Amino acid sequence: MAGPRPELEAWQDPSAAPLVEIRNVTKTFGEHYAVDDVSLSIYPGEFFSLLGASGCGKTTLLRVLAGFEKPDKGSVLIGGHDVTGLPPYSRPVNMMFQSYALFPHLSVADNIAFGLRQDRVPRAEINDRVADMLRLVKLEGYGGRKPDQLSGGQRQRVALARALVKQPQLLLLDEPLGALDRKLREHTQFELVNLQQRLGITFIMVTHDQEEAMTMSTRMAVMNEGRIRQVGTPSEIYEHPNNRFVAGFIGAVNQFEGRVVDQQGDTLTVHSDDAGAELRVRAQHDVIPGTPLAVVVRPEKVRIFAEPPPPCDNGLTGTVEEIAYLGDVSIYHLRIAGGALVEAQLTNRARRGAAPLSWGDQAWVCWNADDAVALLE
Ligand code: ATP
Repeated sequence: MAGPRPELEAWQDPSAAPLVEIRNVTKTFGEHYAVDDVSLSIYPGEFFSLLGASGCGKTTLLRVLAGFEKPDKGSVLIGGHDVTGLPPYSRPVNMMFQSYALFPHLSVADNIAFGLRQDRVPRAEINDRVADMLRLVKLEGYGGRKPDQLSGGQRQRVALARALVKQPQLLLLDEPLGALDRKLREHTQFELVNLQQRLGITFIMVTHDQEEAMTMSTRMAVMNEGRIRQVGTPSEIYEHPNNRFVAGFIGAVNQFEGRVVDQQGDTLTVHSDDAGAELRVRAQHDVIPGTPLAVVVRPEKVRIFAEPPPPCDNGLTGTVEEIAYLGDVSIYHLRIAGGALVEAQLTNRARRGAAPLSWGDQAWVCWNADDAVALLE
């Protein structure tokens, strides 16, 4: 288990040295900018995720880090050394590929030992290290099997063992859990995080699955069209997205476009035609009246009532258009005066909660100014 948390995380500490520095890296394929002027610092011991939709450039960025692609511009430093011109095998990095790429004709133990044999490590040491790895990924007794005699989850663990056996400083994982079904995936997420914490190796993972990135990462970078749109801890990204793209990409969100009418201290009043109302939201900075912006609020921050609630910072009324019962939560869609749909999420605490609302009913929603975010970008 991890020890007590330091007061400052490495990325908040100006004196901490990053393990990986990506400086203004651009990689094009023909006319296409797969990675467009990306800079990023990743610190020792982090579990860092590159998150984005298919084609946003995350795998290309990982391949640049591994040395499989040469950037057109910019540089990559690992441990303070410029590795931009170095081939993959000269970098203190290992990569675990999407397909795992296990050798089908080799046993599990030989798959794990492969890289060590290439490096001409003495046989006795290879045997010890392979045995250690099999223990680590809980596959003792499986060393003699062939990959096709394993389940998907077990193959994934062999690939991980093979990537870790050379004790890289940095492990790059390209959609490591992509081939697993949902249940095994969730289980393996925890295993992978535990393993990473135990070993203290820095992991950089590519994924398009936001829940996976949120569950596993110390920090994540959200990418779109070759660019990084925000870097932060999962809660920073979720609670304080700093642009509309990130707000819409991670989780569900209610978004109201509008213009600032007034600012009192740190509270903005925003007129929104979408909402058909004036909304109040906390401002991060001073904003000139008239400035267009979006007010965004997550559905779980929106409370819903069958009767007019006590006054609150933001109160709207409308008609219930949809109700989805998901077991743990229910989701309500309310059509409000401005024409927008507002989503409110209610946790179902009691088994058979009094469901006070049904389709077509009038309902009221409200949320605090503190629970919404104002986005200029
Ligand atoms: P996915 O999740 O689908 O793997 P990704 O975010 O990892 O997507 P990349 O594989 O990095 O995306 O690709 C980024 C863009 O660069 C895509 O438009 C892709 O078609 C293009 N691209 C990637 N590799 C090459 C290549 N070798 N030649 C030409 N275009 C490429």
